[in-house]
Amino acid sequence: MTKPTNIGRESYRAIELYAPDRAPCRVDLSDNTNCWGIAPAVEEAIREASIPTVTRYPNLYAASLKEALGHYLGVSHDRIVTGCGSDDILDSAIRAFAEPGDVIVSPDPSFAMIPIFARMNGLRSVAVPLTAAYDIDADAMLATDARIIYLCSPNNPTGAALTRAAVERVVERARGVVILDEAYAEFASVDLSRIALDSDRVLVARTMSKAFGLAGLRIGYATGAPALVGEVEKSRGPYKVSAIAERAALAALGDGLEWARQHIAEAKEARTRLTAELERRGLAPIRSEANFVLVPIPDANARARHMRSLGVAVRPFERLPTISDPLRESGGSALRISVGPWDMVEAALAALDAAMGDR
Ligand code: PMP
Repeated sequence: MTKPTNIGRESYRAIELYAPDRAPCRVDLSDNTNCWGIAPAVEEAIREASIPTVTRYPNLYAASLKEALGHYLGVSHDRIVTGCGSDDILDSAIRAFAEPGDVIVSPDPSFAMIPIFARMNGLRSVAVPLTAAYDIDADAMLATDARIIYLCSPNNPTGAALTRAAVERVVERARGVVILDEAYAEFASVDLSRIALDSDRVLVARTMSKAFGLAGLRIGYATGAPALVGEVEKSRGPYKVSAIAERAALAALGDGLEWARQHIAEAKEARTRLTAELERRGLAPIRSEANFVLVPIPDANARARHMRSLGVAVRPFERLPTISDPLRESGGSALRISVGPWDMVEAALAALDAAMGDR
């Protein structure tokens, strides 16, 4: 027998498959999706899709969806690019705006996929810790002279929004493209997407996975100057949004829009209540502008396992830089709890109480 040779790319060897614990769970508050479901108009659009929607190829670059998203954002359709989830947008943008060997800088902690996409595209990934106020350290990020600067607001996993001043400073001085990931924009009080209108080098990435409840259909998009989004479109390639997904997204942005607005309001209310409940337990959750709350707590992995055994999934993190618990040392260990209908959040709180020791 010959020894198996490693046929993968050398730089791929250190890449591990992204595989958080996705085992089904009775109450799943682990991935910031929409636990309220989808708008009735979306359900109808999917149910009534014609056979050619399935047998024929979809629109090359989702022209109708670009039109509808432009309307939703208040920008022209030539400032929009769509993709198979915003994951696809981010990956394609990294490939479009940097050569292998270039540097991409991102805050730490932030969206876990960025260093992975960077590596898959041959880039060097540099992480700059957030400030103690969970904002970006604009000057430290600029000092890396990166070809791409990635920012996320509200940030995952902290939930904190970045300050406009810090983002504007980065945009003014960046030498390359700034990607601003606003996956959770609908839940935030600040909309930073307008910054992209005044710049030819800011790409704002968004998603229909969260506020619109379409994570399973994989629909992401970005807005920016026409020349900028054109490069991302080249890089992502054709047929990335399926015909069913495009149809559902059009319904979500049309007759379903009021449903989404109502449930965004419910999510914000649940976030306020969850934050208060955590504080009542002597914990110090980070002020969130997203549809989840990060709460520093020692031994997050063990507690999440305990909660899972009780039928509740939340996302544990360990050794996150900057995340410290003012009340007791957590060593960067924290739980991220998505919000949903209140009975789900109550179940999570009961499981958390059990995991923290009967109190
Ligand atoms: N950006 C951020 C900050 C996220 O949290 C996520 C999903 N967890 C994504 C992008 C990707 O979302 P999707 O591919 O479903 O659009």
